Amino acid sequence: MSNPNSVVTDLLTAFPQWRSQMYFKSSLTALSHAMEDQVLAGDEQPLIIASFQKERFYRQEAHRYQRIGRISPHVYVLAAPETEFSSISDVYEKIAFTPEDELIHEWHLVVIAKHYANCLICREKTHHPKTQASEIAMDNSRRFEGIWTFDRTVSQKSAVILLKRIVNYRPELKGKIDEALELYCSDIDNITSTPLEFSSSSNPDPFVQRLVTYLQAGQYKLIKANRFLSVKEKKERLLNSITEAIRRSLDPDQILQVAVDKLGEGLDVCRCLIYRCQETDLNAEIQHEFLNGKIKSIKGKSWPVKANPLFEEVLTLRESLSIDDVSIDPRIQNNKSLLSQLVNSCSIISWLIVPILYQGKLLGMMELHHCDSMPVTWKPEDIALVDAIATQVGVALIQAESYANLEDLNEQLEALDRTRSNLVAITGHELRTPLSTIQVCLESLANEPDMSPELRQVMLSTALEDAERMRKLVQDFLTLSRLESGTVEWNPEPLSLQECVDLSLSHIRSRQDQSNIPSINNFILDSMVLVEADGEWLVEVLSKLLDNACKFTDKKGQIIIQVEEKNPSQLKVMVSDNGRGIEPEKLKQVFDRFYQEEGALRRSAGGTGLGLAICRQIVKNWGGEIWAESQGKNKGSQFYFTIPKYTQKSTSNSNNTKKNRRSSSQQNLR
Ligand code: ADP
Repeated sequence: MSNPNSVVTDLLTAFPQWRSQMYFKSSLTALSHAMEDQVLAGDEQPLIIASFQKERFYRQEAHRYQRIGRISPHVYVLAAPETEFSSISDVYEKIAFTPEDELIHEWHLVVIAKHYANCLICREKTHHPKTQASEIAMDNSRRFEGIWTFDRTVSQKSAVILLKRIVNYRPELKGKIDEALELYCSDIDNITSTPLEFSSSSNPDPFVQRLVTYLQAGQYKLIKANRFLSVKEKKERLLNSITEAIRRSLDPDQILQVAVDKLGEGLDVCRCLIYRCQETDLNAEIQHEFLNGKIKSIKGKSWPVKANPLFEEVLTLRESLSIDDVSIDPRIQNNKSLLSQLVNSCSIISWLIVPILYQGKLLGMMELHHCDSMPVTWKPEDIALVDAIATQVGVALIQAESYANLEDLNEQLEALDRTRSNLVAITGHELRTPLSTIQVCLESLANEPDMSPELRQVMLSTALEDAERMRKLVQDFLTLSRLESGTVEWNPEPLSLQECVDLSLSHIRSRQDQSNIPSINNFILDSMVLVEADGEWLVEVLSKLLDNACKFTDKKGQIIIQVEEKNPSQLKVMVSDNGRGIEPEKLKQVFDRFYQEEGALRRSAGGTGLGLAICRQIVKNWGGEIWAESQGKNKGSQFYFTIPKYTQKSTSNSNNTKKNRRSSSQQNLR
């Protein structure tokens, strides 16, 4: 039943000398209302055929057809049903056509009366996709092509074409339609020879012609204005969304990636780049890139800056530089060594370079490339938009930088605070005790000349011992403070674990009487066991653990040093003894600053109470862990720490880490 033919095409085939014309939807609405009003105002019973694309368009006019239907028995209304429209004989005849019928793309109105006839036979042109904001504007700018005329023959032919379609859908109306054809179309002349000029009887009011022209012109202006507004609105929305997104982050990388993505997408360029650079840089690394389609990526590449005349020009002018067509730009064509090569290797056709400045200081550059075959003219409003975004990015970068500085400052303050509390603790508890002893000893020596030489010796030795304890305490305290405040320069390198253990053992042996220390069994004999650490600090950890093991183990006891693989990238080193042991609830506490089981005043083994806190800081630095295990009092203790194994890869990583680390003056451990 549905008809794949267009009524417009059928009509133009019948009248090859007629040309179709373009009409906006609003013009067709005005024309069809005028045609319907003519029927309503007259006293004739004309033939009226109205074909709506969809039921919803019909519904807007249904009230008019209720009135028109009462004027004439020959009123036919066609529409593609959406909800309740159906083929039925009502006040007028309704014909529901199928969605496959070409009528769905067309808008027709035919009126044939005794003294006048006119028709509007149009087909919708495929129109632009709708955007949410401009949907109404776009609806009014829908375009149709076809014929609107007062010509009776053309109107009659249109009626014949449409009535035939109606019979197809509603065969029961055949008799009525034959009657309509007889009544309104029987005098149809030799249709192909119909002249284009209007006959005097059908000459419409020239006012109507002018009305149409005026309507069309007005519609054109409206569409142009709408288009301008919608482009402006789109750009404003883009700027707002970029500003909002970049202001939400304090991470410079995220800010730049959001900006590059949104800008590239919003302006529909082939490639959008952002790179950070300073005026004096030779090259910059392309860190952020947006690509549209199959464009070659240059992310991570080094981009010439200093030797690039375009970059220099942007810097001098302090503003953006646009090149519509690189193939005719003398700056590029005359610079074969660099610019022509860049253009070719990156397939740049049109180029826009915009500086990211903050208070005149260069923070980076934004570049937009068109790489399609045709050059693009950079519109001033697009350049202004990119400029505005570059300003926002500049502000956001400075904000992020200030925030990072603030965080750094906070960290330093926290470290200072830790040092301060350490200092309070050390002077309050730890230094006062040996100092008082020294003072008592020296006072006794000074005030009691009769003191026996043996007692003098005891007094002097005690004072010296406590002075040494104070020296160690101050030294450990300073080491811990430096470790906690992050001012230590680390130099990780591949090391033989065995050599480091040997070095620590020789420290211990040189300091203590061999007969007073337990036997030490070192099972790390393979010099090929390589670790990745700073040697000085590794020896420090081993020495402190061994020192403790000796201190808290009877000289008849035994100390064992062992290593095993914890996982493919880490080793687990153990220093174990069968000495005094640690209560299970104290296993974590021993790593706290100034923790000593007996308390500072009753210490028997000497020591500062800072050794394990220092070890924990050192191990933390190489990303390891340190912990103690013990079965309890007098059951011995095992101290473990993990350390990265040396691999080829870890060297290159550590070199990078080394480079990035904050440098400070070289510190000596002892
Ligand atoms: P200290 O200078 O007192 O040794 P550390 O921080 O090195 O300070 O150790 C803190 C405390 O942990 C020690 O005073 C001791 O009570 C306990 N400790 C450390 N190592 C051992 C060990 N091998 N056996 C038993 N207790 C230990």
